[in-house]
Amino acid sequence: MDTLSYMLAEVPQQGGYFSLVKWFVLLAAAVGWIAVAQWVDKDTWRLHYKRFTFNGVIVGAGVLGLIVWLLVPYFVVGLLVFVVCVGGSAGVYVILRNQLVPENSRVLTGDHFARLFGRKDASEKVGPSPVLLQTMAHQAVPALPESDPLYEGYVAGQTLLTEAINRRAERVAITPSAKGIGVQYTIDGIVSDGGPIDRRTADLMIAYFKKMAGMDVADRRKPQSGKLTAQEPAQPIDPQILALGYNAPDVLPARSLLLDIRTSGTRAGETMQIQTLDQSELLSFDRLGMTDRQMQLVASFRQSAGGVVVFGCGDKLGTTTTLYQALRAHDAFMSNVQTIEERPEGEIENITQHVYKADGAEEQTFGRQLQSIIRRGPDIVAVSQCKDKETAQLIARSAAENVKFYVEMSGRDTFTLLARWVALVGDLSLAMQPLTLVIAQTLVRRLCTGCREAYRPDPDLLRKINLPADRIEKLYRPPTRVPMDKQGNKIPCPLCQGIGYRGRTGVFEVLVVDDELRRLVVGNASANEIKKYCRTQKMLYLQEEALRKVIAGETSINEVVRIFQESK
Ligand SMILES: [Zn+2]
Repeated sequence: MDTLSYMLAEVPQQGGYFSLVKWFVLLAAAVGWIAVAQWVDKDTWRLHYKRFTFNGVIVGAGVLGLIVWLLVPYFVVGLLVFVVCVGGSAGVYVILRNQLVPENSRVLTGDHFARLFGRKDASEKVGPSPVLLQTMAHQAVPALPESDPLYEGYVAGQTLLTEAINRRAERVAITPSAKGIGVQYTIDGIVSDGGPIDRRTADLMIAYFKKMAGMDVADRRKPQSGKLTAQEPAQPIDPQILALGYNAPDVLPARSLLLDIRTSGTRAGETMQIQTLDQSELLSFDRLGMTDRQMQLVASFRQSAGGVVVFGCGDKLGTTTTLYQALRAHDAFMSNVQTIEERPEGEIENITQHVYKADGAEEQTFGRQLQSIIRRGPDIVAVSQCKDKETAQLIARSAAENVKFYVEMSGRDTFTLLARWVALVGDLSLAMQPLTLVIAQTLVRRLCTGCREAYRPDPDLLRKINLPADRIEKLYRPPTRVPMDKQGNKIPCPLCQGIGYRGRTGVFEVLVVDDELRRLVVGNASANEIKKYCRTQKMLYLQEEALRKVIAGETSINEVVRIFQESK
C-alpha cells in the first residue's frame, strides 16, 4: 500500500494540476484492482490452481496498467489501459478456472448472476460443504475454527475429499516431484490430474489428515497409516436434470466410505495417498462379473476334496477382491480357512489371515511360513503370491492331501498362468495332478446406466472383431450428445459426472483342467495342441468374454479396445 499511496501522491505533479475527481477515479480503480487480486488469490488457493502464477499475473498487469496510466498524458486513455490490463488478465483467469470447476461453481456466467440476484435457490452454495468425518472409534472429527493453526489444511482437505467423493475416486494422491506438488484422482483405474498445489497447503493438509487419523504429525519421514470414515449424505437429484432423460433415481443413496490414509517422506517432501472404500457397496462372489458357467465351475471346486485354483492377471488389478470374495463364499464356520498375504487389503470375517513379512530373516521364507500354516490342518488356504519352487511344490503336495488352495500368480491369460505354475513346480505330474482351474481376470469399466446410448453398430466392424453381425442390432456407448442449458452449458449425467462409465466389472477367462488336459500337458503336448483342446471344451478367451459384456450392454467396444491395448 505504501508504494501505491506514494504513486498516487505523485499524480498531481505528473498531470500538471490536481483534480479531486481524477483522484477519486484513480483510488476507485486501485481498490477494484486490489479486490480482484484478493479474490484471485483466494480462489486459486481454494482450487489448488496455479496460485503463484495468477497472483503474479494480476499484480503485474495492474502495476503495468498503473505505470502506463501515470505516463500517458490523457487521463481517460490511461484509465482504459488500466482497466483492459486488470480486466483482461482477470478474464483469462476466469475462463481457465471455469473449465476446472463443476457447473454450479462457475463465475460470471448467466447462471452465476442468476444465483447472485436470488433468481435461483439461495441454498445452492458455491464451494465445498463439509464432508463428515469419523474416527474408527466412531467419534466425529470436528470442523476446525479459523483460529486453528491447521485451518488452511482443514479447508484444503475438505475440498480434496469433496472432489474425490463427488467424482467417486478410489484413490487420491498428493505427490511431490521436481516440478511441484501434484494432486491425482484415480477414477475406475484411470488417473486424472487434479492440478498442482503449493507446498505449504500440501503440508498443512497432510498434517490435518494425520492429526485426525491419530498419526504422528511430527514424524514426516517414516511411512505411516491411519483410517477415517467419511459419510456422504443422500443426494437428491434436481428434477430438471432428470427431465433431460437421464436414467437416474431421484435420490442417490447415502454412502459410507472407509478412508485408508498413508503418508511417507521422500526426498522431494511428504507424500500422501488416500484409498477410499465404499462400505455401503455389498460386493459378493456372484457380483464379481463371472458368467453363470464360470461361477458353477468355482462352486464345484468349493465342494471338492482338495485341489488348486491358480488365478491372476497382468497387473494385479482386482485379484485381491476376487480372492476375498472366493473365500467368503466358503462356509467359514464349517471349514477352517486361512490366508497368507504380503499386504492384506482388508479383513475377512471368521478367516485367519497371516501376514508374511520379508524382513530378511533367512529361516522365515514364504514357503516355511506357509508350511507352519498347513501344519495347523486348514481346509482352505489362500496364497497371495507364489514365486518360488519351495512354495509351489508345497502347495502341489498338500493339495493332494485334501487341502484346497487359491493361488495368486502373475500372468495375463490362463495359458501364461498354466505355464508359469508348471515351470515353478518343476515336475509335470506333480503340478498337473491337483490343478483344477486356472483363472485369468481383467477389469473393464462399466457403462453408466444413467446415460449410456444405444446405437446401431457397423456390421463390418463387428465382423472384424468376430461378432455375429447379423444377430446384433444394437450396442451401447457413452453418450455422444450432452444436453445443454439455455446458456449453452453442458449438463452432465448426475450419476457419472459426464464420464459415461461408472464402476468396473471383472472379466474372467477360465481354463478347466480335466484328465485329458492333464494327459496332454504331462505328455509334453505343444501349446497349440493344448489351446486347440481347450477350444473344443468351449473355453472363451479373455477378449471374447469381454466382448460378451459389450453385447450385454455392460461395457463398450472402445473400453475393451483400451483395456487390451494397454495390456499388450
Ligand atoms: Zn452417466
